[in-house]
Amino acid sequence: MLCMSKISISWDQFTIPTAASWVVKFVCKVKNYFSDQIGYQWLQSAKYSIKGTYTQLRCLGTKVPWQKYVWNRLTIPKHRFIMWLAMLDRLKTKDRLFKVGISTGDSCPICGAQVEKVEHLFFECELSRQCKLLVFSWLGVQLNRVTVFSLLMGVQKYSRSKYRRFIIITAVASLVYNIWRARNAAIWSLHIPIVQSIVKTIQAEVKGRVMNLLNSKTSSRDLDWFHSL
Ligand SMILES: [Zn+2]
Repeated sequence: MLCMSKISISWDQFTIPTAASWVVKFVCKVKNYFSDQIGYQWLQSAKYSIKGTYTQLRCLGTKVPWQKYVWNRLTIPKHRFIMWLAMLDRLKTKDRLFKVGISTGDSCPICGAQVEKVEHLFFECELSRQCKLLVFSWLGVQLNRVTVFSLLMGVQKYSRSKYRRFIIITAVASLVYNIWRARNAAIWSLHIPIVQSIVKTIQAEVKGRVMNLLNSKTSSRDLDWFHSL
């Protein structure tokens, strides 16, 4: 505790050296931010925790209606990330790259017929349309939506079984990820995977992932449905 008091005194009296390196200045900037946000009391707290400080410092935003679907536990983590970027329209599609002068063209690398935007890539492009039809037919789902958001909201209302809803969401995330992967292959390897190969990958990913996370709380009806896929 004596040691903590000494730290507190030097903390209060500390001034940023003008000739300091950028690293030291940055540390000082962080120190000032800490002081402004949570004061100095934490230096002397016997119950100090990193988690508590993090909670105090982070800005709490409002929850979006789709957060539980994008961050669905069943979804493969890398799929969650790509779906999150697609939801926010932050994927580096050609229309965005073209606007900032990074890409020389904005046409879809898969069909070449339209501008590559999120809506086109995941819903309008013939390859995506075929993949979506086959994946939804595999799951026994009939949904005709034109944005990732409306698709997720559609799934929310589609089945009364929470378990089935989350498996469908897992498949939607795998679909988004694999279409993004096919698009990247078209650009970087000049090779577009065929629809059947993409759908097979999606089916294997969904089944493998869900099998590993099955638990005893799942109803026998839902389990039968899953094993019939
Ligand atoms: Zn296209």
